[in-house]
Amino acid sequence: MWETVSFTLRLTRQLDMAAEGFDVVVVGSCMTDLVSQAPRLPKAGETIHGHKFFIGFGGKGANQCVQAARLGAKAAMVCKVGQDFFGENYIQNFKNNGIATEFVGQTAKAATGAASIIVNDAGENAIVIVAGANMLLGAEELRRAEPALGGAKVLICQLEISPDTSLQALSMARERQVRTIFNPAPAVPDLHPDFYRYSDVFCCNEPEAELLTGMAVGSVEDAGKVGAELLGRGCGSVIVTLGPQGCVVLSSQDPTPRHIATTTVTALDTTGAGDSFIGALAFYMADYPTMPLEEMARRANQVAAVSVQAVGTQTSYPFRKDLPKDLF
Ligand code: ATP
Repeated sequence: MWETVSFTLRLTRQLDMAAEGFDVVVVGSCMTDLVSQAPRLPKAGETIHGHKFFIGFGGKGANQCVQAARLGAKAAMVCKVGQDFFGENYIQNFKNNGIATEFVGQTAKAATGAASIIVNDAGENAIVIVAGANMLLGAEELRRAEPALGGAKVLICQLEISPDTSLQALSMARERQVRTIFNPAPAVPDLHPDFYRYSDVFCCNEPEAELLTGMAVGSVEDAGKVGAELLGRGCGSVIVTLGPQGCVVLSSQDPTPRHIATTTVTALDTTGAGDSFIGALAFYMADYPTMPLEEMARRANQVAAVSVQAVGTQTSYPFRKDLPKDLF
């Protein structure tokens, strides 16, 4: 009896939310970062003492969703975590950031995605990523999230979950006229051609652009050339992010590459800057649908530039209240 009532309540809430419509829906990954700082990286079979340990929230999908939500987007996350402490903890993290968690699935078949990271005093690291539950996100979860996805203003996908799931989500968005951002990260050399065709905005960093095209990117000019190659594969627009140099933007309406420079800042930790940029871009696409893409990229540069001035990934992402008024 209670199960029926609870299911009905859940369904009603989902329908309510679908009716309200989300600004940004992310179909993607969440990972718990387990970070140990030690004087050096241990050798095989060795145990050493470290000096600091902390747990961080990561995963490209979740990072992008958190940044969009912190700027004020009404955001929902479609992802899968384990039925474990890290999964529960991650769901609470989404709630703390005002992100809808109705489409966060939990499975007993795999653990929540985790990245075990060791950082030595020279700043070098050794990382083992176990995607775990992320890889079990599939067609069933997309079906459940369909009303939210279909009613969203913007969908973001990456490649830290099964590529088939990302492609299906992009295809669903395209059928329902939802604008899409695709972030091909981590990049694979033989990306399915439909990823390009389903991308309103195809946003990648320099190494990803190099891997996808086989072209070297050593300058802003190179980024324009590689952007043109990617645009030719069928995307609506391409953005290549260039770290402290900002980004290059081009679109099918205006295929001339435009360099959007960013503010010079003292970077403390650039981890997750690309996700901050993409989350911000999604927020602008949803809230300012008629704003030119170049202006959205200029503002996303500013948001990401704030994130690199603080330590950590999501911990470094700014909230709307902390940013200059002219970004809104
Ligand atoms: P990460 O993998 O660390 O998340 P990324 O390699 O995907 O980052 P980048 O191209 O390095 O992405 O950076 C994304 C955006 O962040 C840039 O377009 C820029 O707006 C901002 N950014 C990154 N580094 C700096 C910096 N040192 N100074 C100012 N802005 C920066």
